[in-house]
Amino acid sequence: MSDGSNRIMQHAQLFCARATYPDQISAIQRVGPVVMAINILVVVAVSSLFIADGLHANVLIWAGVGILLSVVGIVAAVKSRKTALTQQSVERAAHVLSLMAGFRAGHWAVGFFMLMPSASTNNQMALGWTLAGMLCGGNFAYGTLPRAAFAYLAVLYAGAIATFIVMGSPILGFLFVAITLYVCFLSVSTLINTQVLRSHIESEMQLKDQNEFMGIVLKDFEEGASDWLWEIGADYKITRGVERFRQSFGFKNSETQNQSLIAILQSRSTTAEQCESVAALQKVLSDAQPFSEVIVHFGDKENEVYCKFSAKPVAGSAGSWRGVVSNITETMVSQNRVNFLAFHDPLTGLPNRLFIKERLDLAVAEHHTLTIERWVMSVDLDGFKTVNDTYGHHTGDRLLVAVARRMQSVLKPSDSISRMGGDEFLLICTASAQQGAIENYAADLINVISQPYDVLGHKLVIGASIGIARVGLDGNTTTDILRHVDLALYRAKHEGRGIACVFNVSMGIEMQKKRILETDLRRAVVEGQFVLHYQPIVSVADTQICGYEALIRWQHPAQGLVPPLEFIPVAEETGLIVQIGEWVINEACKQAIKWPSHVRVSVNLSPLQIRSPKLLNTVVKALSDSGLRPGRLEMEVTESALLEQTDLVFTTLGNLKSLGVRIGLDDFGTGYSSLGYLHKFAFDNIKIDRSFVQAMASRPQSAAVVKAVLMLAEDLGISTTAEGIETVEQFNALKSRGCNEAQGYYFGRPMAISNDEVQTKLVG
Ligand code: C2E
Ligand code: CA
Ligand code: CA
Repeated sequence: MSDGSNRIMQHAQLFCARATYPDQISAIQRVGPVVMAINILVVVAVSSLFIADGLHANVLIWAGVGILLSVVGIVAAVKSRKTALTQQSVERAAHVLSLMAGFRAGHWAVGFFMLMPSASTNNQMALGWTLAGMLCGGNFAYGTLPRAAFAYLAVLYAGAIATFIVMGSPILGFLFVAITLYVCFLSVSTLINTQVLRSHIESEMQLKDQNEFMGIVLKDFEEGASDWLWEIGADYKITRGVERFRQSFGFKNSETQNQSLIAILQSRSTTAEQCESVAALQKVLSDAQPFSEVIVHFGDKENEVYCKFSAKPVAGSAGSWRGVVSNITETMVSQNRVNFLAFHDPLTGLPNRLFIKERLDLAVAEHHTLTIERWVMSVDLDGFKTVNDTYGHHTGDRLLVAVARRMQSVLKPSDSISRMGGDEFLLICTASAQQGAIENYAADLINVISQPYDVLGHKLVIGASIGIARVGLDGNTTTDILRHVDLALYRAKHEGRGIACVFNVSMGIEMQKKRILETDLRRAVVEGQFVLHYQPIVSVADTQICGYEALIRWQHPAQGLVPPLEFIPVAEETGLIVQIGEWVINEACKQAIKWPSHVRVSVNLSPLQIRSPKLLNTVVKALSDSGLRPGRLEMEVTESALLEQTDLVFTTLGNLKSLGVRIGLDDFGTGYSSLGYLHKFAFDNIKIDRSFVQAMASRPQSAAVVKAVLMLAEDLGISTTAEGIETVEQFNALKSRGCNEAQGYYFGRPMAISNDEVQTKLVG
């Protein structure tokens, strides 16, 4: 056998060994009735040729068998069309078809063998053509099932060859070769056809498998994930995924029926931001370009939804879209929560420092493009610390919330408010460029804040100071504006609180001076640039010196001797006063021990110093280091020191007093409730402020106050010292009213004292 026929055999074996596909059978069944009908016609035509020569019973029988076989074939083909082929029935059908093919071929082989040898030349020619046609037609009819085709061809071929041999044809050799080649050609074409058909069927099956697999995967994906596929038609109506839209977003059937996607989303949009998000989706849909991750937000607070759309236009279907939608509500809600916490104060719910800084950055950036004026206000509560200390942090917190609500109630919608921390709030407001307008606004705010509060059963009153700066005018950067607003607030606080101050350039210069002073003062503490001057205090009865008041001065390397009023406030603000005060106490005790034993030394205490837990130890140590008897040391406190943390202050003063140290109330009469404190604490001495002493002669009211204080002190058994006596008349007036001690330029100015200079006698 040649290589070619070998290959054909292999192919044939391979095809026979391979499972048959239903499509191979149904292709035969489809053409079966037609082929059979043609077969009947050909049988009738051939038999009629021979019947015309005279009726032959064998021809009739042959024709009858042929017609019967064809009819059976037609019936079988029509019947089999109605039943679906399974894998088992396919194999059976293949066998039946092959058998049928063999029978049909056998019928024709018998026909040729029977009719050909005795036929006329014309009829032989007709039979020859019919043979060729039947070979070709059978091959066509069974071409998709090689075994049926081979059975058909083999039987017919054998019949034909046998016929030619019996006939003893003179061109037998030629016929043999011709018919063999013809059958081989038909067999090869059957194999090729079948191969083409099978690979077509296989790729179709593969595609079907893939589609099924994709379907399963997508179904799983859609069911399990928070994402699903969606499609809309040209009218934006949802054509795929509508069920998931309903389930995931809680839409009712009626809401989605016959509605466009946009209309459905719009029906649930309640805020401007939500409407904008839907409009953004509408916009990308109208652009007809693929888009991804367009976030749409809708629903009210309880049923808030965030979803993310990605899609591309469906090819060949104008206006239709296909894509993926995800329900990202959970992620967005928690992200929003995180953002809220990052940008809001948890106590008051107001925006925080970070938030307002961003707003301010924006206000600064927009400044040149906007016609409205933006003002920044820093609101700081006055007396909040006292509330906190007195009623506890819980009450303090509730008060802060109440203050925040009050402020929000007066703000304009365009204004922003934030809590910067503690009792400080920052506002960005719109107002006209006139300073008066914003000052009135601030005054209204202070007034609202200052109304009494009812917090946890406590009636509370607090005030507020406000610093104001104008965006653009008072600074072109956020940092500038915040600094300027702070300076203005600082000024408001120092001008007596409860007021609003608008920033001006001089505040900046002052602040700069203060900063320099602060730096210098720190160096002064380290380098010990302070000295004490002493001002004598005389006993009114005999005008003998009974004590000295220690008054600090700063020996500034460049500015010379700096008076205390210029640096004590800064020392208090920076806390340096505690260290400085410690030095004063030590130095004064060291000095006083050198004086006659009846001469006292008075030391001034600043409010911060009294509240320092170190004070008691400092005094004990100074007394023991110097050996000074506690009764020779007097501590002067002013009313301002008693205003805050009053209980703590009185405890400390009580402890000092129990050491034996004298406690004097300085600048008596300048505060609001000087008299009240006399009942709260057993002061040893009262120092009547020099403003009363000096006004006694000119203002009868001052004389009356001095008289009343002296009488009261006498009743309470407290000694009195009159400050600021500059004339003999002032001295005499006080003497006649029973004042115990006197101090003032009339007796001596504060001065540096060296050991030898200690004077016990009145000078001048
Ligand atoms: P102060 O306690 O009322 O001290 C008395 C002030 O009155 C002193 O001013 C003194 O020089 C001034 N003075 C005394 N007699 C007369 C007079 O006849 N006429 C006039 N016009 N003034 C008189 P100084 O030394 O400038 O002290 C000012 C303030 O500085 C003191 O007021 C005191 O509050 C504070 N201070 C001074 N030394 C210290 C200190 O060591 N510690 C603290 N915390 N404060 C101090
Ligand atoms: Ca004093
Ligand atoms: Ca004083």
